[in-house]
Amino acid sequence: MSDNDEEIQLRKDYVESSSFDSLPLKKWLKDQCRLLGFDHPTPVQHACIPNILQGQDILACAKTGSGKTAAFALPILDVLSDDIYGIFALVLTPTRELAYQIADQFRVFGKPLGLKDCVITGGMDMMIQNSALTESPHIVIATPGRLADHIESGTEFSLNKIKFLVLDEADRLLEDNFGKQLQTIFSKLPKQRQTLLFSATITDTIKQVQSISERKPFLFDGNLLH
Ligand code: ADP
Ligand code: MG
Repeated sequence: MSDNDEEIQLRKDYVESSSFDSLPLKKWLKDQCRLLGFDHPTPVQHACIPNILQGQDILACAKTGSGKTAAFALPILDVLSDDIYGIFALVLTPTRELAYQIADQFRVFGKPLGLKDCVITGGMDMMIQNSALTESPHIVIATPGRLADHIESGTEFSLNKIKFLVLDEADRLLEDNFGKQLQTIFSKLPKQRQTLLFSATITDTIKQVQSISERKPFLFDGNLLH
């Protein structure tokens, strides 16, 4: 185990019988979960939601289909409902399809909030995206290439107030050589924010990316549950 690993807190605290009621989410979100047929949190949700709500950074590894989207979307919506301003969260993901799936989850859960989201991916009109970005969306869900294009082309929007940066499918984001675009984006983000990394695998590269944040993350490793 490296020094870095030792610094990362390991926890395995999933309780089979837990319900969303046992999580510290606001009532309106628990009602949304019930309405949408989410009866029991998955292990990654059970472990990460309380820690995100306590203000921690996250480095979570769990296989495809384990419910990683709601593990970040629910606590972000919970905090967002207290204080809606500017661009509140930025979610980066490697593909257009994933960006739309994530936006859908934010929309269905966030419906009572009148959430404004904005999906920025390649293959769509820059000008339309340009005006969506300048209309102060609460959540921006983007692939790194196109968001970096907007930053470099001078689209008038600001990422300097975001409270949450999510890297979804972090392993694929890094494999796909988005390094330069990620650096362009990270340079626009405030230091005071929570960084949430979700991935199917945790690699050394992902730990390095986590080091863009100065805080020690909460580590969830879904592989330890099997
Ligand atoms: P991952 O990102 O880990 O691959 P997703 O977040 O896309 O997984 O979730 C996979 C599917 O499981 C989605 O259809 C989602 O709506 C559903 N899901 C997630 N969490 C729950 C839950 N707690 N209860 C019921 N369904 C869930
Ligand atoms: Mg996912």
